[in-house]
Amino acid sequence: MLIDIHSHIGRILPDRKEFMDVTNLINKMDAWGIDKACVLPVSEHPEGAYLEADTEDVIAACARYPDRLIPFCLIDPRYGNRPDMDFGHLFDEYKARGCKGLGELLPKLDFDDIRCLNLYRQAGKYGMPVLFDMQDGPYGYGLCDSYGLPRLERALRACPDTIFVGHGPTFWAEISSDVPEQKRSGYPDGPVHQGGAVPRLMRQYPNLWADTSAGSGYNALTRDKSFGLAFVDEFQDKLIFGTDSCRRSDVDIIAPVVAWLAELRTNRLLSDDALDKVAFQNARRLLNL
Ligand SMILES: [Zn+2]
Repeated sequence: MLIDIHSHIGRILPDRKEFMDVTNLINKMDAWGIDKACVLPVSEHPEGAYLEADTEDVIAACARYPDRLIPFCLIDPRYGNRPDMDFGHLFDEYKARGCKGLGELLPKLDFDDIRCLNLYRQAGKYGMPVLFDMQDGPYGYGLCDSYGLPRLERALRACPDTIFVGHGPTFWAEISSDVPEQKRSGYPDGPVHQGGAVPRLMRQYPNLWADTSAGSGYNALTRDKSFGLAFVDEFQDKLIFGTDSCRRSDVDIIAPVVAWLAELRTNRLLSDDALDKVAFQNARRLLNL
């Protein structure tokens, strides 16, 4: 069994050439051996407008394959632009229509912006985990934080009833205590130095989880082989398999993160128990599937 907690549909901008419709997604899942996938909207944020797919699109697509696809919903924390905005009318509706989480959250805001904290708290009240993208710097997309992720830590403390699922280049660069400045929004390579913010926060806060998705997750978990294995082993109860592939043309090329998980199993580099948790059990538990 394999559950992908992080997939997308939609037309990719600006070239608009590739339209990842739900059939393409199912084909990809079949080709890669993925049984179920969560589908994450992004285009509620202007920063997510590179992919045309909002919550309505996602709910409609998932309704065509209810045994395979699980919808997430997305709300922009700037909606209403008040620190006490009540998002209940959206959460009520999205939950009733089957949405299991909030994400992919990627507004270009500080991670502990008061409007974000307000949204995180309400997601927690509705039992929805918050899957976020973090990418620092003035350009690109994703929530922002300083070295050592103090803003994320503040949010973890302020919202103890909300589960956060970490993802994205800046989040994963902080797996190491040595974060090269010019690669903090990219893909640092080489050995991971002990004492990074991500392992520290995951150890300390039960409400911080992470997914394995995208180049950033795959890079962080494989750049230093022995560290990566120890990391997956230590956090086997809060690490969730995900791909984050969004192009139709990906179907023919197996995602590195899919091959990586298969290789861990074939070569018995981790216990079956640990790998089952990452592959599907954690997702089932987190999302009450
Ligand atoms: Zn994504």
